[in-house]
Amino acid sequence: MKFSEIIYQKAELELKKRRLQAEKLCEARRKDFVAKHPELLDIEAEMKNTALSVIKCIGAGSQKMDINLVAKRNLEAQEAKKQLIVAAGYPEDYLDTPYSCKLCNDSGILNGKLCQCHIQLLQQLSVGELSCSPMLAKSSFEAFDVNLYTDIKDRALGFSPREYMRGCYEMLKAYAENFTPQSNSFFFCGGTGLGKTHLALAVLNRLTSRGFSVYYNTAGKIVKQLKNESFSKADSSLEEEINSSDLVIIDDLGAEFASEFGSAALNELISDAILNAKAMIIISNLSVSELESRYGQRLTSRLNGFEVLEFIGEDIRQKLK
Ligand SMILES: [Zn+2]
Repeated sequence: MKFSEIIYQKAELELKKRRLQAEKLCEARRKDFVAKHPELLDIEAEMKNTALSVIKCIGAGSQKMDINLVAKRNLEAQEAKKQLIVAAGYPEDYLDTPYSCKLCNDSGILNGKLCQCHIQLLQQLSVGELSCSPMLAKSSFEAFDVNLYTDIKDRALGFSPREYMRGCYEMLKAYAENFTPQSNSFFFCGGTGLGKTHLALAVLNRLTSRGFSVYYNTAGKIVKQLKNESFSKADSSLEEEINSSDLVIIDDLGAEFASEFGSAALNELISDAILNAKAMIIISNLSVSELESRYGQRLTSRLNGFEVLEFIGEDIRQKLK
């Protein structure tokens, strides 16, 4: 799995923040505890002295009996510390540094490899602000309910929205299960509240749990970021993020504020991603012809290779309320 340099840097910063927070909390707890139970310092001094003595004894080739004696005193001091903490009404590890990951002490490295907490952090960061969104947690394949779509047959289509959406659901689930970076791209269209974002995020969730990196953002936020980047003349971190992703999801294309800059920037970004053979999911409330009148034919002709999935039915969000 690969992530962009920026994501690694952000993760590094976050781990550092976690370590500092844990150390600060530990220091405050300790200070408070010692003020109430100063005997802790004597016990700790005994722990330190006996530990040093054990090392000295070993270095001097002392009798095993002597070494055992000092080691025993050290263990007794450790036990006395635990008892003092518990008697004061705290859990026995209360004065240990409360790292959020006990495996790597928030260093992010375990046995020379990235710790699980570090990988999880990288995945969260790669989906940006979305990682904090409750929407992402809710949007799984398991949580998708096709029964929210009506089973009344649509005369013109010859089948019911439920039947049709079950087919879409099964296809996308199989897509997520079998995904490789060479997999095909999709264009999701249809009105609001038909589950487009839900299913795209379900794909995202499945892919990240399979170890792929996924870029997700709305067209509006992408334009905003590109504008900031062009303003600050910084190297494009967005471009790097997209290039290092296995799947790129652009949500709500056409819902962003219409501007010449936005249209040109999105056109270029999508064209570049297609030229780089990125697997993509583009989501829009607009139809292909509406997209064409807004962004021009260049964009829609690029979408020729995309599988178009039109979501149908009534707004299922209303039914969830
Ligand atoms: Zn860890």
